[in-house]
Amino acid sequence: MAHILIIEDNENNLYLSTFILEKHGHRVSAARDGAEGIRLAEELHPDLILLDIQLPGMDGYAVASNLRRAEATAAIPIVAVTSYAMAGDRERILAAGCQGYIEKPINPETFLDQVLAHLRSPSSPTGA
Ligand code: MN
Repeated sequence: MAHILIIEDNENNLYLSTFILEKHGHRVSAARDGAEGIRLAEELHPDLILLDIQLPGMDGYAVASNLRRAEATAAIPIVAVTSYAMAGDRERILAAGCQGYIEKPINPETFLDQVLAHLRSPSSPTGA
């Protein structure tokens, strides 16, 4: 059981991600833009953040950099969710402080395992 913050402006992706995670007993909080995501991350201290890269206003790279710099959120693992997972972007995603990425479109068959793999990775703090 984990608490996952999803920062995603696309309602369909947000709905699908939330549905899959809640169906398997996880708690989900949602933010529709980067500023709200940063605020909720500081307030709720989730076990993992799923971060859309293409967001209105502040993009996902900027959000990740902000989360890494702030003491309250620096240790929360961030996984980018992006359709731009090409070689150069992968480097940029990791450089911004994400520990990995999940490619869009979300595959309902594999999404849960992809998320859980990041929760279990050695660099992540143990979920309560
Ligand atoms: Mn988006």
